[in-house]
Amino acid sequence: MNLIGKQNIFTPKSLVQLQELITNGQALVLTGAKTSTVLPFDRLEDVSCLDLSCLPKEAKIIDSHLVVTGPVTWAEARALAQSQNFDLMAMPTEESAYVLSGIATSATGELSFGFGAIRDHVVWLEYMNSQGEISKLESSQDLKVELDEVLQEALGEYEKEYSPYSHFKNGPFPRFEKATDLMVGTEGQLGVITKAAFKLRPKKLSDFLFINLPRWQEDYGMHLALFEYAQTRRGDIYSVELMDEASMNYLDKSVRPFEKGDVLFMEVDQDVLEDVYHELSDIQNFHMDQVLMVGHSKAMQMRLQIPRAINERNSRLGIIKKGTDAQVRRDKISLLLDTYKEMAELGIDCILFGHFGDAHLHFNFLPTSEQVHKCDEALVSFYNKIHLLKGSPFAEHGIGLIKQKFMGPFYNEKIKRVFYLLKKKYDPANKFFPMGYFNIKDNQ
Ligand SMILES: Cc1cc2nc3c(=O)[nH]c(=O)nc-3n(C[C@H](O)[C@H](O)[C@H](O)COP(=O)(O)OP(=O)(O)OC[C@H]3O[C@@H](n4cnc5c(N)ncnc54)[C@H](O)[C@@H]3O)c2cc1C
Repeated sequence: MNLIGKQNIFTPKSLVQLQELITNGQALVLTGAKTSTVLPFDRLEDVSCLDLSCLPKEAKIIDSHLVVTGPVTWAEARALAQSQNFDLMAMPTEESAYVLSGIATSATGELSFGFGAIRDHVVWLEYMNSQGEISKLESSQDLKVELDEVLQEALGEYEKEYSPYSHFKNGPFPRFEKATDLMVGTEGQLGVITKAAFKLRPKKLSDFLFINLPRWQEDYGMHLALFEYAQTRRGDIYSVELMDEASMNYLDKSVRPFEKGDVLFMEVDQDVLEDVYHELSDIQNFHMDQVLMVGHSKAMQMRLQIPRAINERNSRLGIIKKGTDAQVRRDKISLLLDTYKEMAELGIDCILFGHFGDAHLHFNFLPTSEQVHKCDEALVSFYNKIHLLKGSPFAEHGIGLIKQKFMGPFYNEKIKRVFYLLKKKYDPANKFFPMGYFNIKDNQ
């Protein structure tokens, strides 16, 4: 055990040690690779951390499924899959994160555009409960079968509340339908995921098309035309990502594909590349000289460098990230962009990037310490708007501790009741992440 300030860190090296620590009775926050942007890892005080990074790990491919045990990273999982002519169907931009944590945070990323959310890819999983026992959940099972009558009834009401979000990657609260959903997006509040199997896709060649556009603040007409076009090619187009001009300025000049303007990029299946070129050239006012083909690793590097640069900048200045993670319905993309436009006019530096094809963008204020309060006010008003638009406030990075203050309007009594009943059933002593969003009533 290490002691940092008032924070105990336990690092089990086997499942037996994990079991001992869990049954010891203390409250525990689980940690994986610690890439979450919604948990202030270095400022977690008066709580013990259960660091899962030293558990035994293994990744295998069995019957066309990726089977992961312990702290395997997305980069390792992808390398294994590709070595056997498969590929992953989901992957957060931060590849050093752990695959099993990805279930806990319901991680998504650019590939969700083509292949859906991680919840759709989990075939089965195993988790250790608060008594230290390992149980298996199958995605083919209905969650209700696991539950008593009271929970089943409460869940029926909860599902109705979820219905406006059924087409989102992640709604404001988890989608509880399949047995495996218990662990998807519940952020380690009900148990420790120890093993899981994921669907894979056959490995195929793809290309990245980088498209130069005007700055979105001045004219987002062509952004929208490409957004609409891409919807007609979901699956053939794997991802549709936006990096605005201000984001691109965070990259070294030598790697920027264009001198100025926004960049929208698409990963396209090579089998349909010619058709996509042809269809793009048919879009009114679209000029093919706006398009550049970029290699896979360069594209991925650019995509990762931007959020990393923002995190580094904020931690250098001691500022907690002031970014959004909101998704809206596809027919509301213009309203989302207009809202961001208003925020961009507040006189605070900002950037916009993210999963444009899914109407899911990260707007980041880059404030000085004097501007932090103004950003916080703007963000409160932003999340109220997202609530009115029936959008999802945090469609991939989760809630953790940092985003809880915005969740009030999204959680009514029906939702909190299911949180309460699930905690009571699966973690009655409230050991797992006791200050997480399941207990939001107590710590708001
Ligand atoms: C530059 C950058 C880019 C990112 N891009 C994306 C992105 O595209 N998409 C995306 O979704 N996220 C993204 N993230 C956020 C982050 O990478 C994900 O949330 C990731 O899933 C966290 O994994 P981790 O191993 O770092 O977990 P941690 O950050 O250590 O933990 C995150 C949460 O998961 C829980 N947890 C971890 N392991 C387990 C387990 N075995 N069982 C139960 N609960 C567990 C923890 O309790 C905690 O609440 C990004 C982060 C950064 C820094």
